[in-house]
Amino acid sequence: MNRINVTKSFLPPKEEYEKMLERVWQSEWLTNNGPLLVELETTLQKKLDLPYFAITSNGTIAIQLAIKALNLSGEIITTPFSYCATTTSILWENLKPVFVDIREDDLNINADLVEAAITDKTSAILATHVYGNPCDVEKLESIGKKYGIKIIYDAAHAFGVEYKGKPLLSYGDMSTCSFHATKVFHTVEGGCVVCHDKELFERVKLMRSFGHVQDDYYLAGVNGKNSEFHAAMGLVNLGHLDSIIAGRKAIFGIYDQTLNWNKLYKPTEVATDLKYNYAYYPIVLEDEDTTLRVIKALQAENIYPRRYFYPTLNTLQYVPETYYCPVSESVSPRVISLPLYPDLDHGIVNKIAEIINAQL
Ligand SMILES: *Cc1c(COP(=O)(O)O)cnc(C)c1O
Repeated sequence: MNRINVTKSFLPPKEEYEKMLERVWQSEWLTNNGPLLVELETTLQKKLDLPYFAITSNGTIAIQLAIKALNLSGEIITTPFSYCATTTSILWENLKPVFVDIREDDLNINADLVEAAITDKTSAILATHVYGNPCDVEKLESIGKKYGIKIIYDAAHAFGVEYKGKPLLSYGDMSTCSFHATKVFHTVEGGCVVCHDKELFERVKLMRSFGHVQDDYYLAGVNGKNSEFHAAMGLVNLGHLDSIIAGRKAIFGIYDQTLNWNKLYKPTEVATDLKYNYAYYPIVLEDEDTTLRVIKALQAENIYPRRYFYPTLNTLQYVPETYYCPVSESVSPRVISLPLYPDLDHGIVNKIAEIINAQL
């Protein structure tokens, strides 16, 4: 059997991409906010009904730009259960990550524990909508208002998710997303920053392009732009988004029906009024031994799930202080994401569930 990975990047029909590229050869404009990039940016901004939307070269630089544009200082409260980019973006800006533990049900930051971690140095909360399930955005927003601190969401998993009738990307002072090849919607490499304030938006755009406009140099920026080739992939892939999500949903349903739920659980959406994007299929097993046994049994059949997220970020050796996050430390060694992509054969999905059940 061919190797089955946790994900497989979506590739549109080649002709569609080639057709889009004809426009690049016509314009002879390859990067620096060319016509395709602007078209993708405008299309997404309108489709998601967001006020200010800037495409970036990836989802990590998007978080870095958000932190920089908000001019944050001191400490940022964050989650230990995310991809390392959430933590490293804070460290990269020479700020201090302060880890607050997660909830056991949806594995998002536990908003009830946030207030106790706020000090006079806290400037923001950077939380991840893990697997595309919304954080407790209402509670976090009220904490942000009460203490005058900013809320940033790493919404890298959240493209296509709607919460209470609004895109999840629209919550917080700022949200960032990733359009990396492995995500639900991708531009090969790419990402975006969302905000709700014109001045902030202008600063993000300036910082994204080295901090200068032609011969006027305003600030020390960075290169966070994206290219026409990436935008072309995004414009083509947008046309396939509905069928990508539908294909994922079908596989979701099979896992839901076939896994032995007495011995494991799925981090689920606590939030109601949710339109989900079926970004990941994580399961939490009973203990780490079972987890490693399940991984081994799957690998023996050339199936490669991913320990996502492992390890818990508060334990990374470059985190300067020790934080105790018992829930994240308990869950992280026993969570795996199962293969999930639209053209994954349904027979194989059943087989994956059988292999897992046999090890429980
Ligand atoms: C993918 C991802 C990122 C990084 O995005 P890139 O586009 O790969 O830089 C950041 N945070 C989370 C939670 C992610 O899953």
